Amino acid sequence: MAISKNEIAATMTRDQAARAGVISAPQAQEVITSNSKRLFGFTRKMLPPAGSLPTEPKLYIYSVSEYGDIVNLGPGFPLYEVKACPEGEEYGEPCVIPPIIFFEEAKVDVTEHTFHSGPQIVEAILKIGPGMNASWDRRKVGWFVSNTNPPSAEDVRRATTLYIQECTRLLQEGNRYASANQLLEINETHRRAAKYLGQKVEWSKPLQQMRECPGCGENVRVGIIWHAFPMGCGYIFDRESYEEHFAPAPAHQKPAPPQPTK
Ligand SMILES: [Zn+2]
Repeated sequence: MAISKNEIAATMTRDQAARAGVISAPQAQEVITSNSKRLFGFTRKMLPPAGSLPTEPKLYIYSVSEYGDIVNLGPGFPLYEVKACPEGEEYGEPCVIPPIIFFEEAKVDVTEHTFHSGPQIVEAILKIGPGMNASWDRRKVGWFVSNTNPPSAEDVRRATTLYIQECTRLLQEGNRYASANQLLEINETHRRAAKYLGQKVEWSKPLQQMRECPGCGENVRVGIIWHAFPMGCGYIFDRESYEEHFAPAPAHQKPAPPQPTK
């Protein structure tokens, strides 16, 4: 009866084992390595060696606004971070896009390294080009692409003009909602637009939390001490603070506090 390979490995010298068809650990490692392209039923293709891909010309995405974001183009892609423009600067740090990007994707039982050009990646990040809805265009939030680092003054000016146009549109929209009393339609993008344009508008602060006054049923701000006269019904929410700030004090202690005005 033939002896098992385990027995051979345990009892023979390495040469004897090799002749008997048993491989050593280093040899096994070698076989695994040479076959490791085949994993879980997928045949993986190897990337071209690092250093063999061109790295120029790069493209640069900048933001002229307070909008920055980490953009995820999907599985297989690296994350791209477009950095917000710091306050007082013209534009932020660039997001650098190399000229060629490979990403690995599964096709039936083979993974492919699909090629994408720098300009294609830029279009995907800015959400422009074929198949993209115009309203997604990230140039409206102040992003732009440049061939150079730093960008040309002309590119910065064009991007800023576009962003100001969009902020103006949002400011007008916010004003329309406010005048129609549709305050819930006003969101952070409207407020940021007003702030960027330096416009002080009624609606530029987030909505204050409201509650119903138990005294009269009117909506009042959360945290008020009392529903002050003459607009309010006089309901006291916080007796202690009310006594301290509003209740008439004896004449010898302190002068009567000023009546709160709305
Ligand atoms: Zn009230």
